[in-house]
Amino acid sequence: MPAIERAQPRIIALANQKGGVGKTTTAINLGTALAAKRKVLLIDLDPQGNASTGLGISRQDRGAGSYALLTGERRLADLLRPTRIPNLTILPADPELAGAEIELVGIEHRERRLRDALEAQAEALAGTEIILIDCPPSLGLLTLNALVASHSVLVPLQTEFFALEGVSQITRTIERVRRSLNPALDLEGIVLTMFDRRNNLSELVAADVRAFFGDKVYSTVIPRNVRISEAPSHGLPVILYDHRSAGAQAYVDLAAELLRRERKARKSAA
Ligand code: ADP
Ligand code: MG
Repeated sequence: MPAIERAQPRIIALANQKGGVGKTTTAINLGTALAAKRKVLLIDLDPQGNASTGLGISRQDRGAGSYALLTGERRLADLLRPTRIPNLTILPADPELAGAEIELVGIEHRERRLRDALEAQAEALAGTEIILIDCPPSLGLLTLNALVASHSVLVPLQTEFFALEGVSQITRTIERVRRSLNPALDLEGIVLTMFDRRNNLSELVAADVRAFFGDKVYSTVIPRNVRISEAPSHGLPVILYDHRSAGAQAYVDLAAELLRRERKARKSAA
C-alpha cells in the first residue's frame, strides 16, 4: 500500500531585525485574512508578545507558550490556543521567552529547537495549512530558530528613506541559514508597509526597492493607516476592528496575493 502523504503546513517567518516595521501587524492581519481561506497557526516568537496581545490574549492570562515548546517542557498540543477568529490558532509568547536568547545557548541543537518540535509533534498540527512566525526585532537565536523551521521568509519593510540599507542584513542572514542549517529556505517576498500616498518619498523608496528586488516585492502595499494602529489596543485584528478601512483591505489583498503566488509556484514546479 502506498504511504499516504501527509499535507505539510507551509511555514513562513516574518522577519526583519528592525523594530517597528510591521512584522507583528502583518503576522496578525495577514494571519486573519488567510484564515478566511486556510487553517492558520500564528507562532509568537517575540518576547514582547505583541501578536498575542493583539489577538486578545492579555499578558496576565498568557501562560505557557512558545518558550515552553522550545525548551521541551510542554507539548505543542497543550500550548495551542484558539482565537476569536475561526481557523486561526495561536501559540502565544510566554513571559519566560525574554530569557530564551541566553538560556537556549546551552541547549543541544539550539538553532533547531522549533523545527524539531514542529516535526516531532506534527500530529498536533493536523489540518494546519499555513504557519506564520512572528519574530523579534533582532537576528538572535529566536529568529534563527524561526528561519531554520521555515520554508520561506516574508520581510516587512517600512517605506522610509533608509529602507534598503536595513534589508541587506536580513537577506545576508537568510543566505547564511541557507548555506548551513536550512538549504531550502526561500525569500517569500518583501512587503512594503506604512506607505504614505501623500508623500513623494514613499513612491521613490518603493521604486528603489522594486528596482533592487524585482518581483520578490509584493504588488500589494500596506498603507499607513490609523485604524491599523488602533486595532491592537482592542485585542482585535484591523479586519475585525474596522473591516472597511484601507488597512483591512490591504491585508485582505496581501493574503490573496500570497495565495496566488503560492499557486503559481506550485504550477511551475509541476
Ligand atoms: P514590528 O513587529 O516590526 O516591531 P509592529 O507591527 O509592532 O512592528 O508595528 C510598529 C507600530 O506601528 C505599532 O504600533 C503598529 O500598530 C504600528 N503600525 C504598523 N503598521 C502600521 C500601518 N500600516 N499604519 C499605521 N500604523 C502601523
Ligand atoms: Mg513585533
